[in-house]
Parts: sequence; C-alpha cells; structure tokens
Amino acid sequence: MANETRARFETLSIQAGHSPDPTTFSRGVPVYRTSAFTFKNAEHAANLFALKEFGNIYSRLGNPTNEILETRITQLEGGAASVSVASGTAAIFNTVITIAKAGDEIVSASNLYGGTYTMFDAILPDLGITTRFVDVHDASAFERAITPKTRLLYIETIGNPVLDLADVAAISKVAKKHRLPLVVDATFTTPYLLKTIEHGADIVVNSLTKWLGGHGTAIGGIATDAGTFDWSDPKFELFNRPDPNYHGLRWAIDLSPELRKIAFALRFRTVPLRNLGACLSPDNAWMFLQGLETLHVRMPRHCENALSVARHLKKHPKAAWVRYPGLEGDPSYELSRKLLVKGAGGMVVFGVKGGREAGARFIDSLRLFSHVANVGDAKSLAIHPATTTHSQLSEEQMKEGGVTADLVRLSIGIESIDDILADLDASLAAI
Ligand SMILES: *Cc1c(COP(=O)(O)O)cnc(C)c1O
Repeated sequence: MANETRARFETLSIQAGHSPDPTTFSRGVPVYRTSAFTFKNAEHAANLFALKEFGNIYSRLGNPTNEILETRITQLEGGAASVSVASGTAAIFNTVITIAKAGDEIVSASNLYGGTYTMFDAILPDLGITTRFVDVHDASAFERAITPKTRLLYIETIGNPVLDLADVAAISKVAKKHRLPLVVDATFTTPYLLKTIEHGADIVVNSLTKWLGGHGTAIGGIATDAGTFDWSDPKFELFNRPDPNYHGLRWAIDLSPELRKIAFALRFRTVPLRNLGACLSPDNAWMFLQGLETLHVRMPRHCENALSVARHLKKHPKAAWVRYPGLEGDPSYELSRKLLVKGAGGMVVFGVKGGREAGARFIDSLRLFSHVANVGDAKSLAIHPATTTHSQLSEEQMKEGGVTADLVRLSIGIESIDDILADLDASLAAI
C-alpha cells in the first residue's frame, strides 16, 4: 500500500504492511508456516548474518507473517520498528534484558499487571536487576528513585488494580531529563486510545493477547521502538561495549545512522529473541492481524459499554465503590479527559458490598460474563481477585497491593449493553 504513513489509523489497521504478492496475488495475509528460508547463495547468507542486508533466515528470528504484524503495529503506534514475541510477558522481559544487565536498576510504577510485578519484584533480582517501585501519581517520585544504576523507567498506561491512569508526558519529562528510556505497557489502551510515543514513550510494549487481538484466541506480545532514543551514553553498556553475542558489534556506535535509530529493536531481535527463543508462531500472528482489522470498530464499543457499566454500578445499592478512568468524579477522570479523548478503555473495577463472600457469590451467579483470568476479549469477562489470582495473599498483603476483598474486575465486552447490565443486576440481586 502506497503512502502508508499518511493513511489514517483505520486504514493502517487493515492495510499496513501487506500488499498482494506478485506470485499468488493472495489478498489475505498468507501464513508462512515454515521454520527456515533458503538463501540465494553463500554471499546472501553471509550478508544476512552480518546485518548488511535484511531478509528471512529462520522463523525464531523473524517470519514474513509476523513481519506484516510488526509493520502494522509500528505504524499504528507511530514508531520506527517492532518485534513480535510469544507473549506480552516475553515482550516485557526481553525489553528489560535488551537494555539492562546484572547490577542495573529499573524505576517502575508500582501499580503493575500481576505477572510484571512478580517479574520485577521476585525474578529479575535473582538475575541481578533490581526495581525501585514508586507511586504512579507522583512524577517527582520517579525522579527521586533514579540512581546512577538506573537504566529505564517503566509504567502502564492504565494500571492495576484500580485502573489509575499514568501521566505519560510528565513521567517522560523526568526520563528525558535523566537521559533514560521510558518503557510504557500500553495494553489497556492500545494505540487506538492513546499514542504513547506522541506523549514521550521511547519503547511501547503491548500484549497482543488482549484488545489488539480482541477475541481471546491466542497469546502474543510485541515491543515497539519509537526510534528516538540515543543509546550512546556509556552507562548503556550493552549498547556501547563490543557485544560478544553479535560479532563484537557496538550497537550505539558501529551501526549506520539509520540503523542506530532502531538499535533497541535490532538488539532485541538478534540477541534475546534469537538466543533465548520466545518467538511468536506465524499462526498466532495471523490471528492478531485478523483482530487488528476491527480494532477501531471494537474499541469505541468497549469504551461506551464500560462507561455505561461504570455509571450503572455507581448508582447501584449493592456496589460499595466503582473505578473507571472515564467516570465523572473518578480520581483519574481529569487526566483521562486530556489523554483518552476517544474513550477510557474497557475495564471497570468495583467493590461488592459484603466483601469476599459476596464477591464469590456474585461471580458464581453471572451468566453472560465468563469467569476467566483474561481481559480484552470481545466477550465480557469477570474475576474476583481475592478468591483467585490473589488468594494466596494475606488480607494485609492484599491491602498493601490495593486488592481489597470486595474488588471485582470486569472486562467489558462488545455485546448488547442491555444484556450486560441485566446480567450484572441479576448477579448482584443474587447476593
Ligand atoms: C495480559 C497483560 C500482560 C501480559 O501479557 P501476556 O500476553 O498474557 O503475556 C502484560 N501487561 C498487561 C497490562 C496485561 O494486561
């Protein structure tokens, strides 16, 4: 497709990265189900391995179906290059280890997705990378936590468990002042609701599993390099010392100026993805491409339904409290009016009066909502963290994490809002 960068979001989500190939003229994106690709000759093979030429080698490093997905996400995010991987979690882990090594530190907002929190809090420390957690509401807290060992700042656009919205631009200002990259997990907003790169994100990570795929059919993740970060500060040792994992290449120094711009994406692909192996199956990439085609049609409905649910629960006698960034009076409301002008996402959390037992009873009574540990499906989903994902924690630990015993998390689907509200009402009546 010509002039892709000029096309609008809706067009890019359907067309970017793919034109019918001249051999088969297939209009749909083909699934390239192959492990390896033939080289034209020995010189061609040598050039590919030396990064002198780009092309297909082996599907762990890249695959044409995945590449279409990567190009499409890059254009939707307004970035320079993307790398797709086996899960959102793998996108986050590989992003961290592309930038940081033993002895380095991360400064992260504390209101993270559970798996990411565990990675930063309990797994990375064993590999020598430690995290200082700070309050997402306080950009100055990020600044205070920065030390000479800090290598990146990390936030989610909308965090857990109560859906607080991050002031991406304010935190980016701190990152820029200290010449650190800001990594943003944009899963809960997707580029449709928020173009984080325009607000100063240097690297965007997305779980494709959620709204981008949109149908709860596959697990995948992707990291997008904005192409704007300068890695030449010697404190980024992995980019400035000869890399033993890649012919002694110094990523911030030896690459051409054009490739230096995407040094992060290149190192991500050729070091951790190539050698640790969390690659995305082309079948799953194809499924995410199908989902992406309707992202701009689904997201407004997710947002509209979620706002209706939030307003409905706000008035409901059996709901103790409700949080939704787009709900009038919500602590994130003012910021969401500035940042999320197209809608405040598909997640709603609320407290059921009666605590843990009432929460479990509510969940068991739902008919339209599915009780699953997932979000971002076209289908409405619910979970009660106190009796499931967080049931191993003490009441005290849950309180520290903001997971109260009465908290119910809803991922609002795109079914009829009348049916959604009827199911919520019937289940609240059953308590
Ligand atoms: C689901 C999720 C992840 C992890 O993604 P997976 O694809 O499940 O590995 C990371 N961050 C957020 C905000 C998520 O919702």
